[in-house]
Amino acid sequence: MNPSERRRLTILGSTGSIGLQALDVVRTHRDRFEIIGLSANSDAKTLEQQAEEFKPDYVALESGDAGALDDLRAAKIGGPGAAATLAEVPADVVLNGIVGFAGLAATVGALRNGNTVALANKESLVAGGEWVMRLGATGERIIPVDSEHSAIFQCLIGRAEGEVREILLTASGGPFFGYEKAELLEVGPEDALKHPTWRMGPKITVDSATMMNKGLETIEAHHLFDVPYDEIRVVVHRQSVVHGGAVFEDGSAILHAALPDMRLPISYGIFYPDRVDVGAKPVSFGAASWTFEEPRNDVFRCLLLAAEAGRTGGAYPVVLNAANEVAVQAFLDRGIQFLRIPNVIEEVLEAVPEFGAMESMQAIVTVDRWGREEANKAANRRAR
Ligand code: MG
Repeated sequence: MNPSERRRLTILGSTGSIGLQALDVVRTHRDRFEIIGLSANSDAKTLEQQAEEFKPDYVALESGDAGALDDLRAAKIGGPGAAATLAEVPADVVLNGIVGFAGLAATVGALRNGNTVALANKESLVAGGEWVMRLGATGERIIPVDSEHSAIFQCLIGRAEGEVREILLTASGGPFFGYEKAELLEVGPEDALKHPTWRMGPKITVDSATMMNKGLETIEAHHLFDVPYDEIRVVVHRQSVVHGGAVFEDGSAILHAALPDMRLPISYGIFYPDRVDVGAKPVSFGAASWTFEEPRNDVFRCLLLAAEAGRTGGAYPVVLNAANEVAVQAFLDRGIQFLRIPNVIEEVLEAVPEFGAMESMQAIVTVDRWGREEANKAANRRAR
């Protein structure tokens, strides 16, 4: 693309953690973007302020009171499915920063209408998997924004198929790495929300503490890079500076390093293939030490549960994701203990009936609903 051309950008989930940081990036390179649309779940007030600053053609609000948007010149899309409708509007890039399962319909809407997706929504690939990759023409129109996948994506550019032996996914280990099970009995939401290296929303921060985040990312990586599960290696790297890499046939590895700042993968995703300065600090090598350790799958069981669900495929990853969202919310609401999160998920996964192929929104939504209902029952049975 000609650098003098303005890129037409839509940001879904503009009032969330990814969206706010994306708008920071846009603010520092205002002349490079034309904002087509902004969407929020329910925070109409913030959406209104953003629309006044960035002058989008469209604003979309999924739920809540749209009254605050009345004075905007932008066209309004309201109600459930608003973000997915906005995603269909022609744009050069649709950044999907929606949290949770709701992001899948938006990814599908964007891809089906020929838009490229800068994807920060994990559930699109966890639940939609092969179907979404096919819609994205085997991934050419999906640019990963998750820091690890952006890192791996960058390490794989220009590599021939068959050259890669293994891909490397790093995990911070979360706030409880090194804890024993007995200590984990006591932890509450306030402890789980203290992430050592990343600033993120509450759901993903808890996922990081349980290692489910890395489990979901393993499933994502499988689809994005078309690699079998046993060629995806998770390592704990407490410093969160090396985000991912690839190990090649000759045994050498290429790693990607950057300070933990989501503006980097976001800017890579929305500027791709260009690389621009967004004011992030460069990696420091002066007094840095990097450590790599095996994950502790005996204490943090969610990683293996996720990999197993991914391998089984079909409805299983959809159920895994649904049950996890319910279990995490129950933990945040102090309904279940931290260590019960994998129990709830496992119990639901053990009861999955035959659902058929996950090749339409309807099929996936049906399974998602089933997973949530069953997880609610399981969480209630396990309530403290
Ligand atoms: Mg990540």
